[in-house]
Amino acid sequence: MAKSGPKSGKRIVMKFGGTSMAGTERIRRVANLVRAQAAAGNQVAVVVSAMAGETDRLINFCREANALYDPAEFDVVVSSGEQVTSGLLALTLQSLGTKARSWLGWQLPVRTIEAHSKARIETIDAPGLIEALEDGEIAVIPGFQGVSEEGRITTMGRGGSDTSAVGIAAAINADRCDIYTDVDGVYTTDPRIVAKARKLKAVTYEEMLELASVGAKVLQTRSVGLAMKAGVRIQVLSSFGDDDAASADELPGTLIVSDMEMDQLVENGDMERQLVTGIAHDKNEAKIILTRVPDKPGAVAHIFEPLADASINVDMIIQNVGRDKGETDVTFTVPQADLARAQAMLEDRLEDIGFNRIITDSHIAKISVVGVGMKSHAGVASTMFRALSDRGINIQAISTSEIKVSVLIDEDETELAVRVLHTAYGLDAVEEAV
Ligand code: ADP
Ligand code: ASP
Ligand code: MG
Repeated sequence: MAKSGPKSGKRIVMKFGGTSMAGTERIRRVANLVRAQAAAGNQVAVVVSAMAGETDRLINFCREANALYDPAEFDVVVSSGEQVTSGLLALTLQSLGTKARSWLGWQLPVRTIEAHSKARIETIDAPGLIEALEDGEIAVIPGFQGVSEEGRITTMGRGGSDTSAVGIAAAINADRCDIYTDVDGVYTTDPRIVAKARKLKAVTYEEMLELASVGAKVLQTRSVGLAMKAGVRIQVLSSFGDDDAASADELPGTLIVSDMEMDQLVENGDMERQLVTGIAHDKNEAKIILTRVPDKPGAVAHIFEPLADASINVDMIIQNVGRDKGETDVTFTVPQADLARAQAMLEDRLEDIGFNRIITDSHIAKISVVGVGMKSHAGVASTMFRALSDRGINIQAISTSEIKVSVLIDEDETELAVRVLHTAYGLDAVEEAV
């Protein structure tokens, strides 16, 4: 039975990731969590992912069917995993005696731009949804999917259900967007890699945006950007707590907060101010080196313009000091998935660019340290370089922003580098005395 606590009368979005939705037994757990929120007097919209592994399976089918797949049909296939889980959750809620129905992306509708597999939400029609919520019906919405102006199904990129959830929360003006996953909050680094990672009570939007964009996949980057813009209050928490786990209303997870709220938490002694908030890694980039590029105005533009035109995101860039004969080497990174395309494109333009050789390497990882404390304190980068060099880890490229330092290293050294840095910045959890 759902606990019947005091009526809190909030409007809440609850999002459940793939591990939480993996199979009918887990869906029943989810249904119980949802029912408890509704029983407490809240209006509840639920956003669900496909079952864990399902989206990968569907992507493979598309590849097998046609290696040069049509992106619009690809989206028809890969969006289907969420259609299944949303229907199953609605059915399970109904079996528990709760009023519930599914709202597919095209039914709401969640309107997105046409860019298949990386669609961005433009508008979400909320009135029908709000009416249903006010009528006491639980709305179950498949994440990740939307509909283009042309009426075709679109998807929002891997991890896109987070963005669907935040979009829905903004559209219905929800009090909170709870993102339920398989860890109980945002940690100082991936807790599956560093056992001593510490759970954070709160992270600022700016830091979370940066952490997500450099590989902390606990939230999709775009969801954090949208939440920051729309002022959506996000909590990351676990769907795997035992029966007497704290209710989501007690905020047991990690809150994503504004700078002002963070200052308040620090002032109240609820949070410690750290120089570095978190460390992330990303193994999905690849390095390209072009040797002996002419060291003259316009040369670099010749390299990067065609990549930009093809929507290939270039991340770290190093132009080495010019060598003899007015030549230089240019090193940069692109997403691994775009490496073959980028390489072919550059080879086609060999004459225009005038390089000698193209060298590529996918066996790399980007390690980043993030923290707003860096704005006012020097020495974060040098601590990083010293700690890595003490363990014999070679740095192949460096990039920085106001609140982040990233380095490129050999992929085999990823876990070691993250652990070493976690200790170097004093982030390790203190073992509790027994
Ligand atoms: P879901 O399927 O619920 O969307 P994801 O797999 O997308 O879940 O995200 C949760 C995972 O994110 C965790 O299992 C964890 O391994 C990983 N992760 C990476 N960095 C962090 C971090 N700093 N804090 C918490 N989890 C992290
Ligand atoms: N099912 C999609 C994925 O695996 C979207 C999501 O889970 O957020 O990327
Ligand atoms: Mg996810």
